[in-house]
Amino acid sequence: MKYSKRLSRYLLPTVKEDPKEAEIPSHRLMIRAGMIRKLASGIYEFLPLGWRVVKKVENIIREEMDGIGGQEMIMSAVQPKSLWDETGSGRWYLYGPELIRFTDRNDREFCLGPTHEEVITHIVASNVKSYKELPLLLYQFQMKYRDEIRPRFGIMRAREFYMKDAYSFDRTVEDCRKSYEDNFKAYERIFRRCGLDFVSVEADTGNIGGQSSHEFMVIADTGEEEIAVCRCGYGANTEMAEFRTDDRADGDRQEAVRELEEVHTPGVTTVEEVAGFLKETPKKFIKTLLFRTDDGRHIAAFIRGDHELSEHALKKAASANAIEFIDDDTIKKKLKSSPGFSGPVGLSSSGAAIELYMDSAAAGIVNGISGADRKDYHLRNINVRRDMKADFREGNFRKARQGDLCPKCGGALVFKRGIEVGHTFLLGTKYSESMKAVFVNDQGSEENMIMGCYGIGVTRVVAAAIEQSHDGNGIIWPAPISPFDVLLVQIARDADEFCAELFGKLSEEYEVLWDDRALTPGVKFKDAQLIGIPVQIVIGKKYKETGEVEIQYRKTGEKEFVRPEHISEKLKKRSG
Ligand code: ATP
Ligand code: MG
Repeated sequence: MKYSKRLSRYLLPTVKEDPKEAEIPSHRLMIRAGMIRKLASGIYEFLPLGWRVVKKVENIIREEMDGIGGQEMIMSAVQPKSLWDETGSGRWYLYGPELIRFTDRNDREFCLGPTHEEVITHIVASNVKSYKELPLLLYQFQMKYRDEIRPRFGIMRAREFYMKDAYSFDRTVEDCRKSYEDNFKAYERIFRRCGLDFVSVEADTGNIGGQSSHEFMVIADTGEEEIAVCRCGYGANTEMAEFRTDDRADGDRQEAVRELEEVHTPGVTTVEEVAGFLKETPKKFIKTLLFRTDDGRHIAAFIRGDHELSEHALKKAASANAIEFIDDDTIKKKLKSSPGFSGPVGLSSSGAAIELYMDSAAAGIVNGISGADRKDYHLRNINVRRDMKADFREGNFRKARQGDLCPKCGGALVFKRGIEVGHTFLLGTKYSESMKAVFVNDQGSEENMIMGCYGIGVTRVVAAAIEQSHDGNGIIWPAPISPFDVLLVQIARDADEFCAELFGKLSEEYEVLWDDRALTPGVKFKDAQLIGIPVQIVIGKKYKETGEVEIQYRKTGEKEFVRPEHISEKLKKRSG
């Protein structure tokens, strides 16, 4: 017998009206379909129907993780501060207010796990000693806790959510790359099996750190992330996206190079203001952005007026982990410039200690405009290669834009919105080094283990699936993650016996939910559409006259009458 239920005995509190606080379809529909209930901001209960879908996704993930040699375990959600502070990873302060902290009765500090790198590294460090015990791939399914600054969209961005987190431990970087690859491929299979339309994109490594990272994005207009994708399969977060460009060709190449000229521009500093004042287009401007790196260097980035800086590209070029804007005082005293009026000519000739990063598009401007490095003045007719008095580094330091060319194939990049459902990191030795996860190699000497970590937001996958697959009447489940395979909709009141028999028979092969409630057909059909089980079998009046029942397919709306003994055959052919 498969897992089958009678609806009259099942907790399925469906709701007619759209809940006011729900901004996106998945949030609305999960509440209306009786899948989830809110307990507090970002904290949700999963009712039986909702939890079944979570479990379906979980089982697919488990099969694929076991398939690549994963070992399931479970770690405590409560973690002692010691693992997170100086003696551990040092993240107790870095993680910031998202980490939910508390003290016990003895004033010992703890947090609720937002992720488990610290715990798993601790476990492996204290239990694995020899190269013979590696590689290892350990994983768990567990509620995670993050005090999100803006919990929203129901379970999509919650403060308590269900995650699959996996951690790999290898002897060498090459072995780790292989583990990374295995997990990456498993993720592709998982999301494909969940029936999702997704792309994997190169991503920033954020505060987990490490060397390589991909995000798996489900394509949906309601997604919080913006991604650049190409038909060749290339994909990246827009912040990270690389591109080829012919920007240099789109300046006024014909224009004759003119003499540098200082103009009085009192009180106007932004590109728009100066453009209006001088009656020029933003494309003529060289925007100057001044930063201090985390290791105390000063850097200037020059970007064309209509472009946006890619902090990622700049940080990468400058080998900086973090950058922040330079304060006005430093600009005046150390850089000998004027806040709001800085520009490439002055900064390159003042002798100040500053590294210069010039975007290629800005470098290509003929007779450009930028700050004159003194208050209320700008320079006109700047030609970077002629007028810069110090070495500068040229490259792509701006963000990609729709229509820029794919770095791999040269096709046009398209911008889409995505929901991040999974994230893979090649961590290297970031945790093994600070937490002393070492092994003795075959030469008898100690080495740091090489780690990777791999997360999937299991509950977010459920919401993302709904974002991709619903209509005005409700959810349309992809069959592999549907809470039940078949919904038996009993309309004929006198069909109890007939339905009971059919229910028993179908349950040998399918997970069946039997709507045996004493409600009007209208209510039952509405609920059937709302909860979105792919196959509905309607037992109406006809069952008595002809012995036939009606199969309705949720996705296409197709209907067909069949004799009960042929149902299984029909469904098999269809899923065939
Ligand atoms: P985001 O950028 O969306 O905040 P993240 O980078 O913080 O995600 P990870 O730390 O990589 O996320 O966590 C792994 C996975 O957990 C994510 O890919 C996502 O699917 C899921 N996830 C993260 N935060 C939440 C949340 N607040 N609610 C539900 N799922 C989440
Ligand atoms: Mg986050």
